[in-house]
Amino acid sequence: MPSIAKVVLHPRKAGAAIGGHPWVYANTIQDVDGRPNDGDEVAVHAHEGDRFIGYGLFNSKSDIRIRLYSWTKDATLTNDLFRRRIEDAVYYRGKLLGLSDAKSAVRLVFSEADMLSGLTVDRYGSVLVVQMTSLALSKRLDLLVKALTEICRPTGICLRSVSEISKKEGLDLPDQVLAGEIPDEPIVIRDRDLLFEVSLRQGQKTGFYLDQRENRYVVADLAKGREVLDLYCYTGGFALWCAHKLAASVTAVDSSGPAILQAKWNAERNQISSVEFIEADAVDFLKSRAASSYSMVILDPPRLAFSQSTKERALRMYHRINIEALRVLKSGGILVSCSCSGRVTPSEWISLLAGAARRSGRFLQVIEERGAARDHPVSPHCPETHYLKCVIARIY
Ligand code: SAH
Repeated sequence: MPSIAKVVLHPRKAGAAIGGHPWVYANTIQDVDGRPNDGDEVAVHAHEGDRFIGYGLFNSKSDIRIRLYSWTKDATLTNDLFRRRIEDAVYYRGKLLGLSDAKSAVRLVFSEADMLSGLTVDRYGSVLVVQMTSLALSKRLDLLVKALTEICRPTGICLRSVSEISKKEGLDLPDQVLAGEIPDEPIVIRDRDLLFEVSLRQGQKTGFYLDQRENRYVVADLAKGREVLDLYCYTGGFALWCAHKLAASVTAVDSSGPAILQAKWNAERNQISSVEFIEADAVDFLKSRAASSYSMVILDPPRLAFSQSTKERALRMYHRINIEALRVLKSGGILVSCSCSGRVTPSEWISLLAGAARRSGRFLQVIEERGAARDHPVSPHCPETHYLKCVIARIY
């Protein structure tokens, strides 16, 4: 084995890495013995007792200078190690969760939660969509595509870039087809009783918000007979599930024209005609409504807090949106309030909602605190993987 560079962390800075967090920040590094190129494997040690911590991939361009993939001295970062990680992740979704319907959509690999920091893979029917958020790991893209091809036998694999992370990583990978064929027209996926069209080339994220899958089922079961307002509805996930489960009425709002158009097509495909889709800014729409107009309001805004520095501002925006939503909610109504900002912890989220309720002269009774669907597991070693909060509460 060629010798690999050794990285020693500053005294008392090794706790997170020893605890299994895969991100080693530049400012925790004391010394690099060797001259690793971007993408090279390095061995990370603690200052204290020169203790071995793990093996990772180096990236001089990112604040996350090293991403760790192995914490075992004799498990270096071979092609086989990455392949086994992918195999294990795919096995978990298929065999353990039973998410193997060939027409469905599922997140097969979820980055840090699958010990594959920087790699996310979603399957839409027979097509895989890869998101790469690590420059170092992207140097092994060929190996990853080969492994995915052999393990999943897809008809095509495409890459979707994540612009704000790519900038931080110094990663310049355009959207592209990596293998096989990617249809130009939307793919139709089955989500239990409903069908959704997913546009792999133009859609947001990798095309569909798979993380909300199970939350939609739970929320829809509470929607029967209610007047539902689904804000930030994207292609209609919550709205169509609520209509399907016999909500009295459903209004769905999103500021994106293409998303609303897609949502209307999804409604048609499922022969659901009871949802009113509106292209508008969510807060403007809320302001235009009379108080106590709805008995269920779903809020699923985009990620607002991107970094610690934007967090305070994001919290103020979340607060404002929730206050506006509470105003249009009847007493005894249900608020479903989500946040996908990893920087906001679940307890901060509950506190924010409680604050918004009191500010509005209301009280919150939490029915359920939920996270992302089970194909987006959480790594407690990397709390950032617990990014989605979905609080279901009665308001009175
Ligand atoms: N609930 C959706 C996912 C929401 S993603 C689902 O289940 O699939 C967030 C959505 O917010 C995106 O569709 C985006 O277009 C929309 N959005 C962003 N800013 C907005 C605004 N100011 N007003 C309304 N919608 C907005």
